[in-house]
Amino acid sequence: MNIFEMAKIPLQKAIETINLDPGAAAIIAVPERTLEVSIPVKMDDGSTKVFTGYRSQHSSILGPAKGGVRYHQNVSLDEVKTLAFWMTCKCAVAGLPYGGGKGGIIVDPSTLSKRELEALTRAYIDKIAPIIGEKRDIPAPDMNTNAQIMGWMMDEYSKITGQFEPGFITGKAICVGGSLGRTAATGRGVVVAALEALKLKNIAPADATCAVQGFGNVGSWTAKLFYDAGVKIVALSDVNGAIYNKDGFNPYEVDAFVQKTGSVVNYPGSEAISNADLLAMEVTVLAPCAMELQITGENADAVKALIVAEGANGPTTPDADEILDKKGIMVIPDILANGGGVTVSYFEWVQNLYRYFWSEEEVIEKQTVMMRTAFKNVYEAAQKYNVDMRVAAYIVALSTLAEAMKIRGMY
Ligand code: GLU
Repeated sequence: MNIFEMAKIPLQKAIETINLDPGAAAIIAVPERTLEVSIPVKMDDGSTKVFTGYRSQHSSILGPAKGGVRYHQNVSLDEVKTLAFWMTCKCAVAGLPYGGGKGGIIVDPSTLSKRELEALTRAYIDKIAPIIGEKRDIPAPDMNTNAQIMGWMMDEYSKITGQFEPGFITGKAICVGGSLGRTAATGRGVVVAALEALKLKNIAPADATCAVQGFGNVGSWTAKLFYDAGVKIVALSDVNGAIYNKDGFNPYEVDAFVQKTGSVVNYPGSEAISNADLLAMEVTVLAPCAMELQITGENADAVKALIVAEGANGPTTPDADEILDKKGIMVIPDILANGGGVTVSYFEWVQNLYRYFWSEEEVIEKQTVMMRTAFKNVYEAAQKYNVDMRVAAYIVALSTLAEAMKIRGMY
């Protein structure tokens, strides 16, 4: 089964639970628009290479499409469509005036020079320029893209339109209209959501332990902010391997080590473990913050955490969901748990439209309020309909989307 069909399994359960109108369900099942582009780049060795990129706009029901751009060798049309669909639902759950979109380029960026990366980035924007913009579709960072790449995108798009265009993209550096608090925002959201779950289970943060899979932007900030909240981080990982310390890590120090060596592996005082060991660790919270399809029908039974907080998009497959649910594990689904990133992207966009900027405290406070509200809405839907948190999150998203579709006369 392809990933998009798999992603729609919990959506279908939500549709059946609330008896959604078939017309509304049919609209949500497909992206509004998807563009595939060929991107020629002159490489440093004088050759020309043609890359493939995509931008999918799943929905503009609640507002302009919104979502990141991923650079990865495994990017595919199906993956981009799926990620765009998740953005629609994520924005609706978070209560944002946005639809959902996602972009991607099939490339391993570590194989490019900085000049090649910039050329690829600018050429991608040239190709998708006709369908993006502040009121149409607003890109952002995702896997392997960052504030520097957003800066090049913003510059290129501003050249195309002939105007300063900070509001067309989020996740920018502060000096070109970025928002304070954006870099840590996705991790902060994961932590806020997990702390709400701990509260429900009457567990104090100081009594909780955590294992974080992935040490990119989301994983590293999730670990740091859990640490700040008093949670003991006993296991960390990246693409090269996983590490364990029963006494806990200081993720700020691990990050400094990663900046120097490029990996968490061989961190002083740590024990090397496998990725499978990390996922099966006896911890209070397991936070998969790496990639899709990590907790599957094969390994879900080994999960011993009380709570799974999904920092990544789509880390758990539907068959794994069933197993985790039977084991009584609370899964805080991606479209709720990692919505903190796009929430602060929304704040960045608002600040760009007003050309008036907020303090970091204000950003964090507003984000925390919105995340807690989203968590509460999803938890209440789970209780009301007697479904797991993922199906509940889709119910919350669908209710908002269906109401807007109805009033817009779409069904
Ligand atoms: N790429 C992030 C996500 O998957 C952030 C998207 C955004 O800020 O628009 O949620």
